[in-house]
Amino acid sequence: MLKTDYLIVGAGALGMSFADQLLTETDSKILFVDKHHLPGGHWNDAYSFVRLHQPSAFYGVGSRDLGSNRIDETGVNRGYYELASGAEIQTYFERLMRERFLPSGRVEYFPMCEYTDNGSFTSLLSGETQSVEVRRKVVDATFFNTSVPSTRTPKYEIADGVKLIAPNSLPTEVATHSRYTIIGGGKTAMDVAMWLLQNGAKPGSIRWVVPRDSWLINRETTQPGDAFHNRFIGAKAAQLESCANATSIADLFDLLEQSGQLLRIDKSITPTMYHGATIAQAEIDALGTIRNVIRKGHVQQIGLEKMILDDGEVISEANDLYIDCTASAIARRPTRPIFAGNSITLQMIRAGLFCFSAAVIAHLESTTDDDAQKNHLCPPLQAPDADTDWLLLMKAETSILKRWSTDASLRQWISQHRLGGANLRSKLSDSSDPQSQAIRARIKAASSQASENLDRLISQIGN
Ligand SMILES: Cc1cc2nc3c(=O)[nH]c(=O)nc-3n(C[C@H](O)[C@H](O)[C@H](O)COP(=O)(O)OP(=O)(O)OC[C@H]3O[C@@H](n4cnc5c(N)ncnc54)[C@H](O)[C@@H]3O)c2cc1C
Repeated sequence: MLKTDYLIVGAGALGMSFADQLLTETDSKILFVDKHHLPGGHWNDAYSFVRLHQPSAFYGVGSRDLGSNRIDETGVNRGYYELASGAEIQTYFERLMRERFLPSGRVEYFPMCEYTDNGSFTSLLSGETQSVEVRRKVVDATFFNTSVPSTRTPKYEIADGVKLIAPNSLPTEVATHSRYTIIGGGKTAMDVAMWLLQNGAKPGSIRWVVPRDSWLINRETTQPGDAFHNRFIGAKAAQLESCANATSIADLFDLLEQSGQLLRIDKSITPTMYHGATIAQAEIDALGTIRNVIRKGHVQQIGLEKMILDDGEVISEANDLYIDCTASAIARRPTRPIFAGNSITLQMIRAGLFCFSAAVIAHLESTTDDDAQKNHLCPPLQAPDADTDWLLLMKAETSILKRWSTDASLRQWISQHRLGGANLRSKLSDSSDPQSQAIRARIKAASSQASENLDRLISQIGN
């Protein structure tokens, strides 16, 4: 029988980040089981032009940089820290497994295997089942059930003869079509629209089915590094001031938009969605050139002559190419305690910082015995969906950071961790910079009123 200290189900970004931290901080043995043939989870199924939407500095594992932390000099991300491509991320995780994890002699990896339950897993090829004696814990690194268009069937009907593809096939299929219909309003759809525009499609040749418009995080506000430090903390100040001063939920979003925290593609539409997607103003400008946006709810059926949606229909033409971008990326499901006896469920504890969250969970697992204490420091955050989830995340994040602030050693560990941006920070204290001081004073001044007013606004959600 196989034996290990930690059995990790899922060698995606979260499982890899968790394991990397355990390798650094403990002498534990780890056994990975994953249905994919390579580490990296959903990145193995991604379209070739996918990139991170956040700087690479915040992604991957603690022990190794992803990319070279360059600032892009060209393209829509010009002036901002680089965004790893899907291929880079796959290579990063594959090399991490091959160069660090397996040579450590403490990691075993079983690809192409499905975990069933009770410490056993089955090979997808041979059907052989193996049992594992787990001395410490089973770690569920599959909670987000990440879904991308290439691995799922759309929920709507498609008539014979209609050409519908996942974004993965776009580069090979696009040239034989002259009109393109993008289905979905999320980040994948934005990536597809950008790809079409950047590769020469005229905005007028693109139709875009957007069931819900989205608020988007302005990439300007998420940059790590000294050069952006005051803009980074300035964004925090502006968010708190918006929360403190907003007279209603609608007013809050107005204030967040006015101060450049949140962006939207069409200023005449009030978004009802927030998935935490991050975007640059240059992308917003390009996407805004697509005028044929269909806002008639979700697609129900695509026929050769018409497309039927919840709230109406539009005509189809013979040479239309439909691109399905309706997969939900990460599943929104009820959170559960992260530490529960001999199991750990990896979840998000800092908004949008998935890999960092897994590293913090591993650090607490390595340094603290008491599950109640660990769960106190790691309340899981619900993945956002509706616009108003921005408020709930803001409140939850503030509460977590407050809890962390009372633990000096955790604070110190976080301040030095690569996934918290430490590699790009040359100075930990900016107390001598008058501009930083002024921003910090704004944060202090707004904090308490922001907290009270946020509670008041949250009580109005759904009214
Ligand atoms: C297009 C896209 C772009 C993104 N960009 C960013 C970004 O810029 N920054 C960011 O922080 N996040 C980003 N995310 C969010 C991203 O989902 C998470 O960061 C992270 O990659 C999720 O990793 P995971 O390990 O939870 O899941 P997955 O990647 O889905 O990995 C889970 C693994 O578990 C395996 N598995 C599942 N069930 C079983 C089973 N029963 N037995 C064995 N194996 C099993 C699967 O095969 C899979 O390999 C992006 C997501 C998408 C889809």
